[in-house]
Amino acid sequence: MSYVFPIWQQPAVPVTGSDALFPVRRIFCVGRNYAAHAREMGSDPDREPPFFFTKPADAIVADGSRVPYPPATANLHHEIELVVAIGRGGADIAAGQALGHVFGYAAGIDLTRRDLQNAAKAVGQPWDMSKGFDLSAPIGTIRPVAETGHPERAGIRLSVNGTLRQNGNIADLIWSVPETIATLSRLVTLAAGDLIYTGTPEGVGPLVPGDHVTGEIDGIGTITIAIV
Ligand code: MN
Repeated sequence: MSYVFPIWQQPAVPVTGSDALFPVRRIFCVGRNYAAHAREMGSDPDREPPFFFTKPADAIVADGSRVPYPPATANLHHEIELVVAIGRGGADIAAGQALGHVFGYAAGIDLTRRDLQNAAKAVGQPWDMSKGFDLSAPIGTIRPVAETGHPERAGIRLSVNGTLRQNGNIADLIWSVPETIATLSRLVTLAAGDLIYTGTPEGVGPLVPGDHVTGEIDGIGTITIAIV
């Protein structure tokens, strides 16, 4: 097969203990998957269940990168998230079988243009330009399940310039990882290479140029970026 112009590079993420990369096919994200964060965003988690949105695969940003402050926003927010890397696809996956589809886990940041998101929410417009913009999906090295197991409880936190901003636990996910995979696989057929950003705990806030951002999930990994 030839193409009318050179094909772009496959987006991919390093994997601990391997020279081979994890090729990213799609990025799915869960909204309002921690009750306290749903409340800080003005929602009632008892009335509105979590839901999905997406980012382009080429929105990923490697650990240690310098990220230019994005255009078209004056309120860029950080959201630290557990990222699930899918290694085996499927549709209508039962929750009890879901963890068998996981290749590994990573720490990621769902960068958000909060001002554009709030404007979109107000008039019922889609979130694509507030969530799926260029360089909106920093992700740390993926650790395979053989190293991490399937954590149900782990501290998840994010600091900006050494000050703790977010400090939660993945045990507080409204949809657990198996429930998230099962629910998503009833909406789309999952495939190897898909990433799922599972949502953020409370404490989201603004970033400005010069900020040094460090996220970590105990037993999973870290993600560090600089906003420039
Ligand atoms: Mn998020």
